[in-house]
Amino acid sequence: MTTNPTGFAEFHRRSIEDRDAFWAEQARLIDWQQPPQVICDYNNPPFAQWFVGGTTNLCHNAVDRHVASRGAQNALVAISTETNSERAYTYAELHAEVQRMAAVLKSLGVQQGDRVLIYMPMVAEAAFAMLACVRIGAIHSVVFGGFASSSLASRIEDAEPTVIVSADAGSRGGRVVAYKPLLDEAIELSAHKPAAVLLVDRGLAPAAMRAGRDHDWAALRERHLHAQVPCVWVESTHPSYTLYTSGTTGRPKGVQRDTGGYTVALACSMRTIFPAQPGDTYFCTSDIGWVVGHSYIIYAPLIAGMTTILYEGLPIRPDAGIWWSIVEKYQVTHMFSAPTAVRVLKKQDPAYLKKYDISSLKALWLAGEPLDEPTATWISGALGVPIIDNYWQTETGWPILTLCNGVEQQPSRFGSPGKAVYGYDVKLIDEATGEELTGPHQKGVVAIEGPLPPGCLQTVWRNDERFVNTYWKSIPGRLIYSTFDWGVRDEDGYYFILGRTDDVINVAGHRLGTREIEECIAGHPGIAEVAVVGVADPVKGQVAMAFAVPRDAAAVADEAGRQALEAEVMKQVDGNLGAVARPSRVLFVSLLPKTRSGKLLRRALQAVAERRDPGDLTTMEDPGALQQVTALLGGAA
Ligand code: AMP
Repeated sequence: MTTNPTGFAEFHRRSIEDRDAFWAEQARLIDWQQPPQVICDYNNPPFAQWFVGGTTNLCHNAVDRHVASRGAQNALVAISTETNSERAYTYAELHAEVQRMAAVLKSLGVQQGDRVLIYMPMVAEAAFAMLACVRIGAIHSVVFGGFASSSLASRIEDAEPTVIVSADAGSRGGRVVAYKPLLDEAIELSAHKPAAVLLVDRGLAPAAMRAGRDHDWAALRERHLHAQVPCVWVESTHPSYTLYTSGTTGRPKGVQRDTGGYTVALACSMRTIFPAQPGDTYFCTSDIGWVVGHSYIIYAPLIAGMTTILYEGLPIRPDAGIWWSIVEKYQVTHMFSAPTAVRVLKKQDPAYLKKYDISSLKALWLAGEPLDEPTATWISGALGVPIIDNYWQTETGWPILTLCNGVEQQPSRFGSPGKAVYGYDVKLIDEATGEELTGPHQKGVVAIEGPLPPGCLQTVWRNDERFVNTYWKSIPGRLIYSTFDWGVRDEDGYYFILGRTDDVINVAGHRLGTREIEECIAGHPGIAEVAVVGVADPVKGQVAMAFAVPRDAAAVADEAGRQALEAEVMKQVDGNLGAVARPSRVLFVSLLPKTRSGKLLRRALQAVAERRDPGDLTTMEDPGALQQVTALLGGAA
């Protein structure tokens, strides 16, 4: 048993105060080839090493371990409403497919410790590739399929993959997005060139194959149909994957995750946070390009012996009943989505929610962005199941704040993701003084005292210094992990998240760095300077809005010129970063609001764009800059 009969408070207390004993117990939830010798080595803070001396394998725990006991049970069901296809793989079949993929990757030269970049739509082969990598001790780096060539190129350069696994195309809302030309362009842009590209041809778009470099998955799979590739037992601290996330600079960070700690954290979360039984069905609507997809589409449900659903498509196509029809058909017990998706559904005919038998569903978990009360109330009424918010980050890999109902049922509070999860020593810190705020309702930075629990990032890929400086040094006088979110806590320990402390924005649950978008727009020859801010949006939570100074004011003197340049800027973002980063609007101004020292006043811009008071502007160089923006937005409203 992982749960504690004396309740959650005691469970949490033990995880912090009796850390090693607590996590030694949780470590028994997974298979080890060699059991760990040291539970947590924190001799070199803030670098935490979990389960040192232990050897294990993530693929073994997710797949092989279940083959004997549940080989005929569905492990993975890949559903695409884009290609109208549906294919279920039992644990035995998944085992075979993963070995084929592992054999193919090895034949292309992938060895233990090598990186494999996966740039794929939501197809079963993406899951095979991830599992095949960790099977052979290679490190995968999945890049979200919505990113375009320059985002992809910077990730290729940083990860230096031996092989890139990709597909001819993805599809969204019936529109085919050819991946191969974007990939070719990215490889062209990148200083690092992969030895090979493995292409899954879905027959959606023509894909030019480069002889000697590009290989067809179907042909190579055929050659390795009966492959038996044993799991490589790796050190617990061996990296399982890197996943790039945006920060305040234009350069994304490779969040590096270990193997043993991550496997234990996920296994434990499936008992305590998403209480599940083997054989239950998990439907997480995220994407494998995001951390939620890594943890709760692929690894955690499989580690728990569940059936996991991989879905390619929109929540409202062919109609707004599609998700609930999947729940009915596959008897989904656990569902995990994002508030944005719920807000999209809320705009549809409510009859769709009554059309299917969804009585198998136990709860709906939501994460990735703030859950507003109207959204939570609506979906909870419509589904008649508990709605459980959980707050976390790419860096942590699993929830920091939520209600651990598998340990003890606790009432949820609207607007709060819940309490600090076990293993997380969460503090609220006064940003200016570095002091801990212990009283209720005091606003501070949400911070975590080291060591971070198992499953969280080990470091930034090949950049320990950036790991320490970015995350652990932002609060004066203390070595403490900053989430870069503001928060408050009530008298009962429930936290409320109040937005980011930095220039990161959250569009439909996707984290985007405004710096990255600014750098991309500034690359347009017609733009002299640009500021990008996140502006509140009723459906997506936030959208990016750009304020740009054109090189030639005459270019935007009339409406036609303005529209043409706006369209070009949007195209530039689509082509380089991907449509996910496209600003909702590009407004042209003659100057940007700055302080006298030249720092962009992004917060003032954001306030004006949200029709709020921009606050203290005494440091502003030229008040005319904001007046222009106000006039533009006023005119546009
Ligand atoms: P990402 O790493 O892309 O998952 O983004 C993490 C950020 O999303 C956090 O730092 C928060 O700003 C925000 N976030 C994630 N989950 C929640 C939540 N449940 N409530 C409020 N904000 C959230």
